[in-house]
Amino acid sequence: MNSLVPLKKISHRGHEQLIRQSRAMDLKMDHVDFAAQTGTIKNYAVTLESCTCPDFQRRQRPCKHMYRLAMELGIFTADTEKVTAAVLSPKNILHTFKSRTSEPVPKNFVVIDFETANNFFDSVCQIGLAVVENNSVIYATDFMIRPPYEDFIHTNIHGITFNDVKNSPTFDALWQQIEKFIAGQTIAAYHLPFDLSCLVTTFARYKIPCPKFAAFDILANVRECRYYPGKLEELDDYSLVTVAKKLRIKHVAHDALSDAVVAAKVQFYLSNHFPKEQTTIYRN
Ligand SMILES: [Zn+2]
Repeated sequence: MNSLVPLKKISHRGHEQLIRQSRAMDLKMDHVDFAAQTGTIKNYAVTLESCTCPDFQRRQRPCKHMYRLAMELGIFTADTEKVTAAVLSPKNILHTFKSRTSEPVPKNFVVIDFETANNFFDSVCQIGLAVVENNSVIYATDFMIRPPYEDFIHTNIHGITFNDVKNSPTFDALWQQIEKFIAGQTIAAYHLPFDLSCLVTTFARYKIPCPKFAAFDILANVRECRYYPGKLEELDDYSLVTVAKKLRIKHVAHDALSDAVVAAKVQFYLSNHFPKEQTTIYRN
């Protein structure tokens, strides 16, 4: 299992290495010499200690080709759960979308906001939803969710304890009510990678097929506007709390319902003041 060590005792569990293992799973060796424990992929000469590909040459850490070879030789098994978690982490989630295009900010969208019990993205314990039509919130709601963990380490942030949600439905039981806000819609979030990670990881946990939707990031839009003169120019930070305060929007921070409504109002401010700004729309 640990013979894949070109640099002794390198961890195969870091984010970057886990991503390489995920890519290795989709690779095919062109040739494997089982006796010599070497092989070739796309003209790269691969051994358990080195590879001629640019990635290994640059970083001197196991590349996807070396992981593939080790898998073929039966001496390395990726920790599928950890690999999946890495692939779904915010660092990668936007890259998993099929298309990204720069477009005018939509007038109709649904803001989603999740609170989580702990650092696992599928530990969602509250979802807030704000439905926007023609730049106004026409409906907002939230659901308390019983997460698949009793371990609550973010209670100090949002005030929700396991006791508060232990009798709430699990996400799969709520999905029928939530689906219409997401499937086929344009969703938006304040720091989209986080909420998308929650959504996609939760879909995976409950084996809910991920519906088609479009998505954009309100925080990214706020950051785009920070160079223009105005209330959002060069703030120390661009957390929803800071931005809401600056725009004098009433906000109960880290209540998913309030976060969703406030994020929508922040977008209205942007759309009113910077009507020509475009946003990146992700589609799966
Ligand atoms: Zn390589």
